[in-house]
Amino acid sequence: MLIDTHSHLNFNSFKDDAHRLLGRCLAEDIWMINIGTNLVTSKKAVELASRYSQGVYAAVGLHPISLDTGLVKIKPEEDDFFEKEFDYEKYKELAQNSKVVALGEIGLDYWYKPKAKSKRPEFKKRQKDLFVQQLDLADELNLPVIIHCRMAFDDLFEVAKAKTPKGVIHCFSGTWEQAKQFLDLGFYLGLNGIIFKLELDEVIKKMPADKILIETDCPYLTPPQEEGRNEPGFIKHIVQKIANVRGESFDEIAEVSSKNARSLFGI
Ligand SMILES: [Zn+2]
Repeated sequence: MLIDTHSHLNFNSFKDDAHRLLGRCLAEDIWMINIGTNLVTSKKAVELASRYSQGVYAAVGLHPISLDTGLVKIKPEEDDFFEKEFDYEKYKELAQNSKVVALGEIGLDYWYKPKAKSKRPEFKKRQKDLFVQQLDLADELNLPVIIHCRMAFDDLFEVAKAKTPKGVIHCFSGTWEQAKQFLDLGFYLGLNGIIFKLELDEVIKKMPADKILIETDCPYLTPPQEEGRNEPGFIKHIVQKIANVRGESFDEIAEVSSKNARSLFGI
């Protein structure tokens, strides 16, 4: 068994064949969690999961990039729907669906920032407020969180340390020093196709096995062994690479990462 803990079959790239892919994955004993990034994609994730008795789950949340602060211009991609503020009650209702296993993806993303330096503190504050609201919702519902962090390590670590949620740092791409800081707070680290692009061998080698989660982040981050759109089935390349770097077998990584996912998400 393999569990892709971060996929987006709820995105437009899969609108014609999500169910065909899901059927194939389940037949190959690959489970997955589809992750929302706004109300539209979060609802789609829940709808997809509702059709399956086992093996397909959902996370709901408002991605920091989907927050319309009015302070920065972002060219929307097809799955981007901007929200002016976090509708706590709407997300709460959605998150109470039995197929929802986490709040996510939530966090901080300072990749796009206001051109005027004077507006940046306000921009960061809006994202931090959004993050805290969603951590509070996760806490209220006793759900783990799936955290997105880009160009915002220090601020994110500060909030995480103060709020101590349980969850995973998805698409981990930092240094071993940064990894250790999150591991000390009890976080899992999500490893995906970025491990083929960045030098993450030290993190992969040194991190404890009981904190490894595997993910594809499909349709993004296709492993170099494949072409075009990423898919949950390509998770096997991630497992093989982790196994090679750690000097362990494919089966050992498959087993421990599945056990970790089942324990964190209660599936
Ligand atoms: Zn994602």
